[in-house]
Amino acid sequence: MPPDRPYSPSRAIAELPEGFFDVVEPAAFPQHTLRFRNQRWAERVGLHTLHDDEWEAAFARFEPLPGSLPLPLAMRYHGHQFRAYNPDLGDGRGFLFAQLHDGVDGRLLDLGTKGSGTTPYSRGGDGRLTLKGGVREILATEMLEALGVRTSKTFSLFETGESLLRGDEPSPTRSSVLVRLGHSHLRFGSFQRHAHQGRPDRVRLLADHCIAHHYPSLGDAADPYRALYGEIARRTVALTGGWMVAGFVHGVLNTDNMNVTGESFDYGPWRWLPRYDPMFTAAYFDRSGLYAFGRQPEAAAWNLTRLAETFDGVTPPRELLDDLREGFSSWLEAAVVEGVLERLGLRARGRESDARLVDALYVFLARSRVGYDQAFFDLYGGMASTTRWGSSPEAVAYEHDGFGPVRAMLEAYEPTEHAAWALAAEPYFLQRTRPESMLIEEVEALWSAIDERDDWQPLHAKIEAVRAMGRALGRREPISSSPGPQPGPHPNRARGR
Ligand code: AMP
Ligand code: MG
Repeated sequence: MPPDRPYSPSRAIAELPEGFFDVVEPAAFPQHTLRFRNQRWAERVGLHTLHDDEWEAAFARFEPLPGSLPLPLAMRYHGHQFRAYNPDLGDGRGFLFAQLHDGVDGRLLDLGTKGSGTTPYSRGGDGRLTLKGGVREILATEMLEALGVRTSKTFSLFETGESLLRGDEPSPTRSSVLVRLGHSHLRFGSFQRHAHQGRPDRVRLLADHCIAHHYPSLGDAADPYRALYGEIARRTVALTGGWMVAGFVHGVLNTDNMNVTGESFDYGPWRWLPRYDPMFTAAYFDRSGLYAFGRQPEAAAWNLTRLAETFDGVTPPRELLDDLREGFSSWLEAAVVEGVLERLGLRARGRESDARLVDALYVFLARSRVGYDQAFFDLYGGMASTTRWGSSPEAVAYEHDGFGPVRAMLEAYEPTEHAAWALAAEPYFLQRTRPESMLIEEVEALWSAIDERDDWQPLHAKIEAVRAMGRALGRREPISSSPGPQPGPHPNRARGR
């Protein structure tokens, strides 16, 4: 049994003066049917002991959590959407519901909502989230977490019994309200709003707030604002590297969808790559491929340039941009190289050698058109996996000349201790010839079961399978005292807890 983590509420955001958010009211829904409760992360933040009725009161009716925010706050922000400035943004269908501390590392966390009703920023929208949108956010966050990408977690999803009209889903469609656990909902666009309104004093307050609550060690830097920007930049670039390794396309990399802790959040039209393809695009409305798979680092750089500009009047943007230019390539390369080595379960041999292996691997992936997830699955542990290659659906590719350079380089690599163990002991590697994946056909099939038959079993089975993959890849459970696979039956497993 994991030790009980104390629930440790916070109201950090309320230290900001007026001008940063609006007090709002949650919508009243005709139905509250619990569809997903993230008990793993509830344990970590000390909310695992909530009874079902308490969970519903908190995460469907939004009755305040003790000691946290007394009322929900819609955050104010602007942002560049597809590179056009939009001053009419802000939390239009969500709010900051509560804040609390991580029971293990002590970091500040937000519980934010999606689909909880209209706010002053709804712009004529209904303030709601479709059930499909909620299900998709669960799937994206679970898969990214299992692949080791820093992401918000989906904490709770209730179906809410309304009929919604949407242009991008067969309508009417079912409704839901989602709660997201994440490291800050302060966005690049939060800074942009105050800079746009000619309020460097508020930009400074926001920066001070970020330093105090998210990066306390930067408070002693010679120029804490420059240090803050540098940290946000480094983490954001590292995050895009993480997406590249995971084969993930976020889809909507607007400045209001990037936050100050470099954590991936807000999942709309995301997709996973079937095969390596830099121009693979997730959103049907992204006609120019602005946010295509291979252009995500460029999007991060563009957004970080806009963020630097907001510091005008606080600290010179020129210096921030110099830091960005100087760090960008090395941050990205480090994230990709380290991420690939980790996803392959290989011991690093030094940056130069590792980078050459990664280059060779991507040449192979581009030319062979081997399934992206399949390649990482087959090559896990490097040469320690050669006996598995024959039974791979891509077996032929590993016998082809084009694989030669990768194979030659793999000869010098050894599996990590975990990988050697996992290849010998994990059913994920011993009993399967195909990896766990999250391709669009799978997502649509999971949704169809819910949509057509109200069958939630495939979704919950998928979540379990994704979590099992995460454990096979060596991801630790959120409760650090149980690093290995979580044993035993779990209460309410049927509901995907
Ligand atoms: P997103 O594309 O989800 O990042 O949202 C972009 C902006 O549109 C944000 O200001 C959202 O709050 C707002 N928005 C998205 N969907 C809705 C909706 N159904 N009702 C009201 N506002 C929305
Ligand atoms: Mg958004």
